[in-house]
Amino acid sequence: MYDSIVIGCGAAGATVARKLAEAGKKVLILEKRNHIGGNCYDAFDKHGVLIHEYGPHIFHTNEEDVFTFLSEYTDWYLFGHEVVANVHGELIPVPFNLNTLHKVYDEKTADELEKILIEEYGEGSRVPIMKLRENENPKIKGIADYVYENIFLHYTMKQWGQTPEEIDPAVTGRVPVLVSYDNRYFQDKYQGMPKDGYTPMFAKMLEHENITVELSCDCKKRLTFLENRILFDGEDFEGDIIYTGALDELFDCEYGRLPYRSLDFQFEHFAQDSYQGRSVVNYTVSEDFTRITEFKYLTGQMDVAGTTIVKEYSFAYTGEEGEIPYYAINNEENQALYQKYADRMKNYPKVHLLGRLAEYKYYNIDAIVKKALELAETIRR
Ligand code: UDP
Repeated sequence: MYDSIVIGCGAAGATVARKLAEAGKKVLILEKRNHIGGNCYDAFDKHGVLIHEYGPHIFHTNEEDVFTFLSEYTDWYLFGHEVVANVHGELIPVPFNLNTLHKVYDEKTADELEKILIEEYGEGSRVPIMKLRENENPKIKGIADYVYENIFLHYTMKQWGQTPEEIDPAVTGRVPVLVSYDNRYFQDKYQGMPKDGYTPMFAKMLEHENITVELSCDCKKRLTFLENRILFDGEDFEGDIIYTGALDELFDCEYGRLPYRSLDFQFEHFAQDSYQGRSVVNYTVSEDFTRITEFKYLTGQMDVAGTTIVKEYSFAYTGEEGEIPYYAINNEENQALYQKYADRMKNYPKVHLLGRLAEYKYYNIDAIVKKALELAETIRR
């Protein structure tokens, strides 16, 4: 009855399902949660404010094909996303850039340091903090120390429970020092929000006669992985299966759980127009939470009465009921464990692993949509 089964209805699952459906395949999506959209899921809270239930998701991309594909299902509210860090009560632009430099140093020093940075790295360059710290020029070292101490160290300790040295350098490299006056958090060509939200965008994507979505369905109730066969509702299933869930869970965490960071989101509503006057403030030297997002500034819903914010508290995922694995912790040991599970998939050549959980990777939305488009292309051939 179905040609393909997709496990999980987030950005990865919805994209691959749509593309396969358009290629004439009958696709069944099994989603554990009671809603579509995965961690991009957004909805109106009881005060009428559009919130992101699983933390702020800002879309940004340079990929024309990704932007074109998503634009079939939504219009956009595009803006240049900006973030500030609260450093002992002072708000400074993040990523650290030349505006930040001039904010934290006196004019003469900042002018001198700006020249040195441009000479060393070139105007417009993006320098990961861990690279900047390797520079032996004492003046550059001074900047690196400031940025490390005031922007990265404490925030990273809160977010990962480890120092910037201990985590994958690609993670801190996501927010490089910018040798430019660009205050935007991302430098991508397109950035912003689906105009009416992510959930309607994915709902439209899933609206296709060849797609069936079953919510609140644990795939393990329908699929049985035998030695080298897969049963669907008790019968052999030989079509493609796209799995976007956590890989260890597929094998009952037989070799142990894959470590993740989880998040606790504390939402608060205020009967006032504005709470912080901007979308995101990172708390990089104080507080137990990492950042505060004020949704109306993120979604552009400026006409709503009152305002809703969310504070994010990070903690180590244990797998307990109700916890959600958000961030894979990429290191050698965890990769080796992941590989043990991935090796088990060799018995199932028609199962494809896709997304943050299934691939145990730190993906942005656009990157996973891109990967899903490519996978659909491979499968339909
Ligand atoms: N980071 C930091 N201070 C900041 C912003 C980011 O230390 O003000 C580090 C931190 O380790 C974080 C990583 O950079 O986990 C990536 O940040 P990003 O904002 O991309 O994380 P996400 O939005 O995906 O949680």
